[in-house]
Amino acid sequence: MPQLSRRTAIKLATASSLFLFDRQEQERPPKYVTENAEIKFHSTINYPRRWQQIYQNTLNHFSKKWGRVGPTHVFLIENDDWEETKNAPEKVASLKASQKILRSKFCELHGQDSNGDHLDWSTGNHWSSWSLAPPNVVITMTMSPYRDGEQFVIGPMHEYVHAIQIAFGNAKEAIAGNRMGHALWTGPAWFREGSAVLVAALHAYQNPKLFDQLKGPYTWRQFSAEMNRNLGLYQKAATPIHQGVTHNDWQRLEPQELVYPTIYCGGSIACAWLLKQSGSLTKFMDFFSLVPTLGWQTAFENHFQIKLSAFYKALEQEVNVAQVQNGSGKPKEDWFRFLKTIDS
Ligand SMILES: [Zn+2]
Repeated sequence: MPQLSRRTAIKLATASSLFLFDRQEQERPPKYVTENAEIKFHSTINYPRRWQQIYQNTLNHFSKKWGRVGPTHVFLIENDDWEETKNAPEKVASLKASQKILRSKFCELHGQDSNGDHLDWSTGNHWSSWSLAPPNVVITMTMSPYRDGEQFVIGPMHEYVHAIQIAFGNAKEAIAGNRMGHALWTGPAWFREGSAVLVAALHAYQNPKLFDQLKGPYTWRQFSAEMNRNLGLYQKAATPIHQGVTHNDWQRLEPQELVYPTIYCGGSIACAWLLKQSGSLTKFMDFFSLVPTLGWQTAFENHFQIKLSAFYKALEQEVNVAQVQNGSGKPKEDWFRFLKTIDS
């Protein structure tokens, strides 16, 4: 519906329709926002403070740089099989009770009238989910910090990249055009996961301060090793990223154990290629602001200045000849060397 200016509206309005107009103003459905969004934390009772703070600091730092999108809700869930919890059986009942409250909250945020008993919150997962009505991104973290503390820095950034994709992919223009759908607005699966993997790792490498309270920073050695490992797994899978686009593709690749090497690893190589063309992480991230008005593919082709089909071709040509640097034997040329010095 076209928006009338307030003055025109008043001129046209009778007393009763003016009332209606005001009510419509107030009742306009909530939507995703791509700046100054609320990021809200929900955690189980007595969640380890130190780890909650590390997680929260990371997201504050990351969203300050790349924008506060949402509404985003973060669920930090402790389970009774965590190392430090197992020895305190008196905690189990209160932990279960607080999980119960959070399960209902989780469903409410997804617009579901349910107590959430069906949700699998077993230890070891970290994922994001979303709903359109009401619009909410929800990040759920059930991993134990006592097993892998790094996941409390790199993990939240990965999940928050999904929040950025969701918020821009479901902005009001996308909804008004009635052209939603994962591949069209939030992009192909390889892009969604690949950009999350790459951006989280690069931001971690470029911001060693994020690891101040951990054993040590995420070094160039680790970053380069991870990207080279991704390259090796992608080459070995021999399944190009254009086979990992839709939900159906994902379902098809899963039983062949190709989701990880193609969509995550291959996606991260593809995004590294795009980042190289962009020249800086900021320029790469600027892509997202084009998505609401153009849709994913046109935004991609305008921003990265290449047709999607040509990009798929160029990437495969490079990947076919790229050599994995595995740290042993004669040093080879590191395909990812540019990442060491690329601007943030
Ligand atoms: Zn992901």
